[in-house]
Amino acid sequence: MRVLIVEDDDSVASALADALRATGHDVDRVDSGVDALLRHHDREVVLLDLGLRDGDGFEVLRKLRQVSRAPVLVVTARSDERSTVRALHLGADDYLVKPIRLRELLARIDAVTRRQPTASPPDDVVATHGLLIDLAARTVTGADDTPISLTAKEFALLAVLARRVGTAVSRQQILDEVWGDAFAAASRSFDVHLTQVRAKLPVPELITTIRGFGYRLEA
Ligand code: CA
Repeated sequence: MRVLIVEDDDSVASALADALRATGHDVDRVDSGVDALLRHHDREVVLLDLGLRDGDGFEVLRKLRQVSRAPVLVVTARSDERSTVRALHLGADDYLVKPIRLRELLARIDAVTRRQPTASPPDDVVATHGLLIDLAARTVTGADDTPISLTAKEFALLAVLARRVGTAVSRQQILDEVWGDAFAAASRSFDVHLTQVRAKLPVPELITTIRGFGYRLEA
């Protein structure tokens, strides 16, 4: 298994790397979040520390989840429930508290990577209320196959909702996935784009606002 260790503590990193190599894994190690996002591409599983020298591991996890399907195991000293829940919500596949028991870590890596191939990709075409959103072809059609022309940003926004059709998606999540970061400017841009998407849909009410949380594309 090609493993990426994201860990800023050299002694922890080398202990992990040694144990993984001894059991036949191919290990790459980085010590910062920036490098994690640059070097994850050919990796099949990521071990992610939360306290990194260039910032918070949660942010790395959030960004990683947008671009990679590789299982992520958080390996951290933080044992509080809040951190655990947050990491799992952000898409971590498992959460281990230091000090790490190596055989347990190996077993957990096996467990999350075993689950991986069965995870089916989301549907590429989402149909709802006469609206047809083809996520792969990046096209949207209304009733009678009328094409609906969206800009790249508008499509990206609609696609985030379409991938979870019928489910509430938080505003934060949409900002993260479409704009990458929740800056104030992105937030204003978001409102503009949402208004435009609604105006272009055959039924503007298809996107429901959930006050204080986010939005839902109605199924
Ligand atoms: Ca650390």
